[in-house]
Amino acid sequence: MKSISAIIAAVVLLGSISFASAESCCDKAKAAGKDCGHACCVKAKKDGKTCEKCNPKKEDKK
Ligand SMILES: [Zn+2]
Ligand SMILES: [Zn+2]
Repeated sequence: MKSISAIIAAVVLLGSISFASAESCCDKAKAAGKDCGHACCVKAKKDGKTCEKCNPKKEDKK
Protein backbone atom coordinates (compact mmCIF):
# COMPACT_ATOMS: atom_id res chain seq x y z
CA MET A 1 0.00 0.00 0.00
CA LYS A 2 2.90 2.33 0.74
CA SER A 3 4.30 1.89 -2.76
CA ILE A 4 0.93 2.67 -4.36
CA SER A 5 0.59 5.99 -2.56
CA ALA A 6 4.20 6.78 -3.43
CA ILE A 7 3.50 6.16 -7.12
CA ILE A 8 0.38 8.34 -7.01
CA ALA A 9 2.34 11.10 -5.29
CA ALA A 10 5.07 10.84 -7.93
CA VAL A 11 2.56 11.00 -10.78
CA VAL A 12 0.84 14.03 -9.27
CA LEU A 13 4.21 15.70 -8.74
CA LEU A 14 5.37 14.98 -12.29
CA GLY A 15 2.07 16.19 -13.68
CA SER A 16 2.24 19.46 -11.81
CA ILE A 17 5.85 20.01 -12.88
CA SER A 18 5.18 19.38 -16.57
CA PHE A 19 2.09 21.58 -16.40
CA ALA A 20 4.02 24.39 -14.74
CA SER A 21 6.84 24.24 -17.28
CA ALA A 22 4.37 24.13 -20.17
CA GLU A 23 3.22 27.61 -19.23
CA SER A 24 6.03 30.10 -19.25
CA CYS A 25 5.83 33.54 -17.70
CA CYS A 26 5.22 34.89 -21.22
CA ASP A 27 2.41 32.39 -21.85
CA LYS A 28 0.77 33.42 -18.60
CA ALA A 29 1.09 37.10 -19.50
CA LYS A 30 -0.32 36.42 -22.96
CA ALA A 31 -3.24 34.52 -21.47
CA ALA A 32 -3.93 37.54 -19.28
CA GLY A 33 -3.76 39.81 -22.33
CA LYS A 34 -0.53 41.44 -21.18
CA ASP A 35 3.12 41.54 -22.12
CA CYS A 36 5.51 39.70 -19.87
CA GLY A 37 7.19 42.09 -17.48
CA HIS A 38 10.41 40.16 -17.02
CA ALA A 39 13.38 42.30 -18.05
CA CYS A 40 14.84 39.45 -20.13
CA CYS A 41 11.50 38.95 -21.93
CA VAL A 42 10.99 42.67 -22.57
CA LYS A 43 14.47 42.86 -24.07
CA ALA A 44 13.84 39.82 -26.26
CA LYS A 45 10.55 41.27 -27.45
CA LYS A 46 12.26 44.50 -28.41
CA ASP A 47 14.45 42.43 -30.71
CA GLY A 48 11.35 40.77 -32.12
CA LYS A 49 12.12 37.48 -30.41
CA THR A 50 10.72 35.32 -27.69
CA CYS A 51 12.82 35.11 -24.56
CA GLU A 52 14.77 31.88 -24.83
CA LYS A 53 15.54 31.83 -21.13
CA CYS A 54 11.90 31.63 -20.17
CA ASN A 55 10.70 29.77 -23.31
CA PRO A 56 13.39 27.16 -23.92
CA LYS A 57 10.99 24.80 -25.67
CA LYS A 58 9.89 27.32 -28.25
CA GLU A 59 11.99 28.22 -31.27
CA ASP A 60 14.36 25.49 -30.21
CA LYS A 61 13.54 23.16 -33.09
CA LYS A 62 16.22 23.25 -35.69
ZN1 LIG B 1 8.39 36.03 -19.87
ZN1 LIG C 1 12.60 35.90 -20.05
